[in-house]
Amino acid sequence: MLKPPLHIFTDFDGTITLEDLGDKIFEVFGNLKEYSPRLASGELTVPEYWRLLAASIKTDATPEILRNWAYQQPADPHFTSFVDFCRTNALPLTVVSDGFDVYIDTVLEREGAGGLPRFCNKLFFEHGIFTPFFPGRDESCTCFCASCKRNSVLRNLPSEALVIYIGDGYSDFCAADHADIIFAKKALAAYCNRQRLPHYPFSSFADVQKILEGVVARRRLKYRHQAVLRRKEAFEVE
Ligand SMILES: [Zn+2]
Repeated sequence: MLKPPLHIFTDFDGTITLEDLGDKIFEVFGNLKEYSPRLASGELTVPEYWRLLAASIKTDATPEILRNWAYQQPADPHFTSFVDFCRTNALPLTVVSDGFDVYIDTVLEREGAGGLPRFCNKLFFEHGIFTPFFPGRDESCTCFCASCKRNSVLRNLPSEALVIYIGDGYSDFCAADHADIIFAKKALAAYCNRQRLPHYPFSSFADVQKILEGVVARRRLKYRHQAVLRRKEAFEVE
């Protein structure tokens, strides 16, 4: 038994998949071009942005059409063996995303990872209209996400667990702030550098697995002091 027990959380878009499917699905089926600059300029919040994009989905699209499209989208070729590695070593792995269940579940099932717990936004389809639902929304965090990953991490964590976080983007910042071991690429790596957060740069799950094999072999692990303080603070505010 590892001490303390590890719990791994991973982002989905651009981390498990090669591209950001949350953007791409609306580029293909909706009106990403119109709303994306308005999110970037701060005019729209993320939930407003998702609502407008969901409403912009073409009228002939159905959840089945979206799932068929998602089924064709490539994932990191090393993800499946990483899932096996976690299973073999009894390391709990949870997917946290600010994207939507309709494409996340399709890709996870295709990769043999349909049984993993996952926390994300939902896209409902009724009377020909798509409507987003944000079960993970929380006003207490400063991240402005529709599904706050910090909260998805904290709510699904035994209090003594050591948190490993894997991600690549803006919506990963608040979760990484609360993690003991961080794997980061792209915008998240830049954020970690700015904030002086120690992290492992990675480009695929093969890199993550290689480093975690070393971590598991060590067996005795250290918490990151700042992350422990922040987790405690967040629990007190909640
Ligand atoms: Zn947050």
